[in-house]
Amino acid sequence: MQWFGKGSGNIDDRRGMGGGLKLGGGLGIIIVLVGLFFGKDLTGLVSQMPVSQSEQVQGKTGDPTDAEGKFVDGVLESTNQVWAGQFEAMGRSYEEPKLVLFTDMVQSACGNASAAVGPFYCPGDHQVYIDLSFYAELKDRFGASGDFAQAYVIAHEVGHHVQNLLGISDKLQKARAELSEKEYNKLSVKLELQADFLAGLWAHHAQNLKDFKLEEGDLEEALNAANAIGDDKLQKQSQGEVVPDAFTHGTSAQRMYWFKKGFETGDIKQGDTFNSTEL
Ligand SMILES: [Zn+2]
Repeated sequence: MQWFGKGSGNIDDRRGMGGGLKLGGGLGIIIVLVGLFFGKDLTGLVSQMPVSQSEQVQGKTGDPTDAEGKFVDGVLESTNQVWAGQFEAMGRSYEEPKLVLFTDMVQSACGNASAAVGPFYCPGDHQVYIDLSFYAELKDRFGASGDFAQAYVIAHEVGHHVQNLLGISDKLQKARAELSEKEYNKLSVKLELQADFLAGLWAHHAQNLKDFKLEEGDLEEALNAANAIGDDKLQKQSQGEVVPDAFTHGTSAQRMYWFKKGFETGDIKQGDTFNSTEL
């Protein structure tokens, strides 16, 4: 894809700041991150997070000037434009999310997170968090290369922001206490597949933006990424077997299906993964 926009103005660049966290001592932080990009098993990551609380940090403001940072900024700006239009059509106004670029560790309203959890969205502060080293992992470990695979990651997290603004994620979090883990996982899959649908919907409408250009092979790159990070595939790679009850993000087939559906229809009404009997 190509983006010719000016920059979103919504990047909080904390790269190289170590998240402003003091390492050592302290208690493990309970991970309450919900808007993760994929269903990595977080057990074990808690012990990697002996961080002490520190005051709210903020990095450099202003648009990034490096190529990777600029790219992410452009994707974010394009999501702002698409979602502003979608919200307007619903008779609402869109609140733009901030995107935090960090390295290694970061502090969010959802707890302190290590880059090992992957990109995530924190509903508590309406911010998307990404350590750009994830893109190398996406390419080298999951075989998902290409700029549009990278754009899909951002669009998925922004999808969680949209769900948050629409009150969808909140309902799920409230229901959490009443549900067994198995039941909760089922709902989590639906929430994640909807974020994939919303990412596809973004790609559909982004094509109509004046500063956006979709290139040949882009759609395939996103679908390839969706395929690479399905729960079934990840489980098979990490533990050699597939445990559907432990799925939190959906299978490769489901993730591809819903991204594609968003891309093909561009119609938000088609994205009710909660009541859908498809896949
Ligand atoms: Zn997600």
